[in-house]
Amino acid sequence: MTIIDGKAVAALVREQVAERVAALGEQGKRVGLATLLVGEDEASQVYVRSKHRAAAEVGMYSYDVEMNADVSQDDVVGQIESLNVDSNIDGMIVQLPLPGALDGNAAVEAIDPKKDADGLHPYNLGLVMLERPLAIPATPYGIMRLLEHYEIETEGKTAVVVGRSFLVGRPLGILLGSKGVDCTVIQAHSRTKNMAELTASADIVVAAVGRPEFITKDMVKPGATVIDVGINRTAEGLVGDVAYDEVSEVAGAITPVPGGVGPMTVASLLVNTVTLAESRST
Ligand code: NAP
Repeated sequence: MTIIDGKAVAALVREQVAERVAALGEQGKRVGLATLLVGEDEASQVYVRSKHRAAAEVGMYSYDVEMNADVSQDDVVGQIESLNVDSNIDGMIVQLPLPGALDGNAAVEAIDPKKDADGLHPYNLGLVMLERPLAIPATPYGIMRLLEHYEIETEGKTAVVVGRSFLVGRPLGILLGSKGVDCTVIQAHSRTKNMAELTASADIVVAAVGRPEFITKDMVKPGATVIDVGINRTAEGLVGDVAYDEVSEVAGAITPVPGGVGPMTVASLLVNTVTLAESRST
């Protein structure tokens, strides 16, 4: 059984990004990433800090914008628009979810798609659908890099993705089914009827549900690859969407939580940012 080491692969991806950032630097171009954090949610603060650390590590300039939770939607959009026209910024992220009544979708839509480091703008989601991506949603992108790194066979394989959010499940389903990857994808969700039967037939199971230990041993075919996207904060600490101990008895390969998909999300954000910087500088 292979434990898929997201931390190690993310370090490799960051090295590749650092080389690309350095190459742009030689042409006099500094790569800049901006983060916009609204409110004081502790988990969001941790995520944003880790993005700045990672950006610094690959030689990017990073810019931290923080706004109070009581700002208006117009204030948020105004801030995004000023980053859109800031020539020092190549990529930006709006840390989601936004607090209170603020509209996260509208905020993402205000981002210039050519600066959309999370790859969540409808324009970039559309390019993923058309199989000519620019910025790819960071978590699905990270998962695809993990499968590639571990040479997990995908062609003609059945992949069940549990979850259909626009952040994770839905774009991942598209990527897994795209030409060259060639999985046969089943996109499962809360209305799916025969869940255990479906997952037990899959060569690749992805859990992006947000329910602790949702995928159990009996739901996994021996030898299958199991990707756990879930991050659930419980009294027992951080728990994934997969019952790791029992599922690892049958899986052929599995991502741990933490140390699996999480580090790849941040690394993919950096890949998107340098890709956007390269496309702006040509
Ligand atoms: P989300 O927007 O809440 O979507 C959850 C999906 O799971 C929905 O499509 C929902 O179905 C489905 N679902 C919920 N309960 C279900 C059930 N009982 N049976 C089958 N499907 C069910 O969550 P998300 O943003 O995709 O995130 C999913 C998890 O990944 C969360 O734990 C989140 O914290 C984590 N996450 C991790 C990373 C990372 O970097 N590791 C990044 C992003 C998210 P419906 O559509 O029918 O409601």
